[in-house]
Amino acid sequence: MNDKARNAEEGFGGIIGQEIPKRILTYLIGAGHLPGTMLFTGPGGVGKLATAIALAKYLHCPDKAIDGCDCPSCSAIRSGTHPDVVVLSQERQIRVEEIRELTALATLRSSEAHERVIIIDRAENISRSAANAALKSLEEPGKHIRFILVTDTPFKLLPTVRSRAYNLRFSLLSQECMGDFARAIGDDPLEKDAAEAIRLSGGRPGIYLRWKHCEGYRETVGSVRSFLDDVLSDVEPSVRKALEWKAQFWELAETLSSVEKKADLPRGGDAYDIARHLASPKEYPVKPVNWRIEEIAKKESRWSQGRKLLYLVGLLRRVLSIKLNAQTSRAIRRLQDFDEKIRFNCNSDIALERLYFGLSGLQG
Ligand SMILES: [Zn+2]
Repeated sequence: MNDKARNAEEGFGGIIGQEIPKRILTYLIGAGHLPGTMLFTGPGGVGKLATAIALAKYLHCPDKAIDGCDCPSCSAIRSGTHPDVVVLSQERQIRVEEIRELTALATLRSSEAHERVIIIDRAENISRSAANAALKSLEEPGKHIRFILVTDTPFKLLPTVRSRAYNLRFSLLSQECMGDFARAIGDDPLEKDAAEAIRLSGGRPGIYLRWKHCEGYRETVGSVRSFLDDVLSDVEPSVRKALEWKAQFWELAETLSSVEKKADLPRGGDAYDIARHLASPKEYPVKPVNWRIEEIAKKESRWSQGRKLLYLVGLLRRVLSIKLNAQTSRAIRRLQDFDEKIRFNCNSDIALERLYFGLSGLQG
């Protein structure tokens, strides 16, 4: 292993598990062949965004330091203020103007020594026209731009985008790795709450964090579970029941969106960042990843119905995968179907009612 590769491997020290993608990245860096456009895929909450950010830190850090360094560059990336690292992460569709702005920003600075790293989280939200506009850049990002696309649902990306990116797959963490993660952020994996959070996380540090450190999240998931039990135990769906569920569904979505806003948990932080944040939130305010462009969109401060639904569906799916019973896979298929309909701007009320009947019909 050469020096470059060794430094890179150490630079991923804060990412727990994910040995295969880490090894591949380390190899590519060592060989000087890091692709211009990469696609990080795999389940939600396993560290894809954290790895993308760790890679950005590594690429910009003058010391190529291990374990989340405190140099100005690493600190700026951690707090989301680095001029050459842009993270775009949003639930709604990513519009063509936004992609244009990103690529224009990138070419503007192309004479600078440092390359610009553009991380697009939830890349499945890139609209068709935005994807078409970005194809050229994705295909040949140029010497000074690097794209990292991150998604839980790669099948929703346009094939033309998928085929232009180098795909790295991330997987769920083993129980053992989840224990390592808990330890790395300063929790004791044998302690009762942590052990339960590990069990319920299903191998996803992101879920562990919310479960263990966000009371509102725990409560909401509790309500979602009883809601689901209710739906799944209803053998004969009725219109009256469907309307009741709809009200409950929206209420859960409201709660979730406010929990999400208030939850002071870092997204995209590695274990060291998270540990520091948990120990001293004032001194290390690891915010959810920044987004320069989202600043503009902040005016849309209220979540749209579609965004709430997508969020809720994601959560329902996770709750279902925690529940693991005979109905799970059919229920997940119903949710996926629902998810598709919402994404393609079908009437959300009609889609919801279909979902109730679909879910409650599972029992019969
Ligand atoms: Zn550094």
